[in-house]
Amino acid sequence: MQHVFSGNPFDRGEVERRDPKWIESTARQPGTRVLPLWKLNVLINRNSSASLGWLGPEILEARSPHAPAPILLGLMNGVAHYAVDVSDVEDPGKLGLPERHRFEEARAAAADVSASETGIIAQAKAQLDWHIRHRYCSVCGHESVPERGGLQRHCLNCNALHFPRTDPVVIMLVYIGDRCLLGQTRARASAGFYSCLAGFMDQGESIEEAVRREVREEGGVELKSVRYHSSQPWPFPSSLMIGCHAEAASDHLRFDAEEMTDVKWVSRSEALSALEGKHQTLKVPGPIAIAHHLIKAWATGQVA
Ligand SMILES: [Zn+2]
Repeated sequence: MQHVFSGNPFDRGEVERRDPKWIESTARQPGTRVLPLWKLNVLINRNSSASLGWLGPEILEARSPHAPAPILLGLMNGVAHYAVDVSDVEDPGKLGLPERHRFEEARAAAADVSASETGIIAQAKAQLDWHIRHRYCSVCGHESVPERGGLQRHCLNCNALHFPRTDPVVIMLVYIGDRCLLGQTRARASAGFYSCLAGFMDQGESIEEAVRREVREEGGVELKSVRYHSSQPWPFPSSLMIGCHAEAASDHLRFDAEEMTDVKWVSRSEALSALEGKHQTLKVPGPIAIAHHLIKAWATGQVA
């Protein structure tokens, strides 16, 4: 199943990005397409239907000479595509953008653009964000330099290489018979909002072990089985959501009040009406999030 923020169509140019001269000269060639992001908001073209606001290489000249190098996203039909951080320009209105182009928050923009473009947003946002957060070498503290079109940073002081990070998160719909387990975190309590249980994977842990641990910690529920369903890149800032279904061994609940304000069993019919936005009190995530599809797959009988 293909979720929002996946489906990126680019050939990521593994061979081309080994050549720093190619990367630098191609970025400035006519025909090259450049996607600017300003404070991690992505440029959207609102002429007719919403699409990514690709510009020509001239946008690179609008920035200060010290601005970070553009990153190479990849190639499509032989055309190189780059993303560039234009946050050094204080007022994006002064960039001379085409009509009806504006910088938009990634999640809101992803709801409007095509499926494959959401994958490009995920790649561009997560990678530019990583460069902003990882400018200095974590080994010796010197400033490092981007290489391979942004797919690594190299510390020229101690020679350490650093690679863009992706943080795996397990997200699981636990069920038993005709009921599923939904939880409410402190952050979403006021909105009556419930979702699948989820948490970052620990180091030295398999996906199945992480699912069992998180469900035990957050809900006090032991599991009979764990099965993988699908995954979703989630560029806030750089997670990979690993979606699973898990059958509970019993319906005994003992939730962690530190982490969760509520964890409860919800019937199949209640889950279905919440998915359609028709439930009086229960709200669940919309189709942009993998949680929606994990709940839906179970509620519509696709999980045996
Ligand atoms: Zn270093």
